[in-house]
Amino acid sequence: MHLGRKKRAHIVIDALSEVISRPETELRFSSEYELIVAVILSAQCMDARVNLVTPDLFKVWPTFKELAEATPEEVARVIASISYPNNKAKHLVGMAAQVMSEYKGKLPEDQASLMKLPGVGRKTAQVVSSVAFGDRDALPVDTHVFRVTNRIGLVDQAETPLKVELGLKRVIPRDDWGRAHHLLILHGRYTCTARSPNCSDCVVKSACKYYEALQGLPKPIKGLDPRKGDYYCATRRQYFDQPISRLDRTGTVQFACPKCNSMNVYLSKTGLTLKIVRDYRID
Ligand code: SF4
Repeated sequence: MHLGRKKRAHIVIDALSEVISRPETELRFSSEYELIVAVILSAQCMDARVNLVTPDLFKVWPTFKELAEATPEEVARVIASISYPNNKAKHLVGMAAQVMSEYKGKLPEDQASLMKLPGVGRKTAQVVSSVAFGDRDALPVDTHVFRVTNRIGLVDQAETPLKVELGLKRVIPRDDWGRAHHLLILHGRYTCTARSPNCSDCVVKSACKYYEALQGLPKPIKGLDPRKGDYYCATRRQYFDQPISRLDRTGTVQFACPKCNSMNVYLSKTGLTLKIVRDYRID
């Protein structure tokens, strides 16, 4: 089914809203201070893990003032189970010190000022400004939003988070940016996961380009004989043991037949196609 991106976005946001009753961050926090600390810690780390660590951290350093006076080494010890503890500890202490010296202990509200704080990039600034201050210009793109929106086709093979953000802002009404951000994150975290998206139970599959492409993959071939070779080329109808690799039109590396270059290649043992659908990841 051909869908324009705006229509596709409308269907997706509506469908996800039906099944995700509380589109909000899963990080636990009770103040702007706790929010920015938790968001900095959550970079390349699961929210659940951050939530295990922050209660101890907030007990020892309950405000910007105390954290600004800590040493990075002390903080790193408390957040040791989080990814990149040394770097994040340095950022946290530096961020708190800057909030104390430049903003009298009050977190700035605008994205530009937030992004000048150590450890705060575009995504973190947008999450904080949106969640803490209701910034309607924010549509933060994390690894889940990046993957899910590219897969569904809400953006056109956007290669960077910024391109995804700008693409989404063109197709999602401004009033829905905050909600869409949380819906897409939660969808990516629990259904459209990086390694094995649960397409069969997905409520947006009728509007998803990735799913459509999966359905278009060739069906398995029955009766192949693995004794004749590990792979089978359905174009030349011949077996072989060592496939070559080729780039397809979407820039995806595919297995190919070494004799005719065809990408119509199957695994002899299972009869399954070796074609893969382009996928999207950022670190
Ligand atoms: S159909 Fe599959 S790939 Fe598409 S959004 Fe759903 S889970 Fe993700």
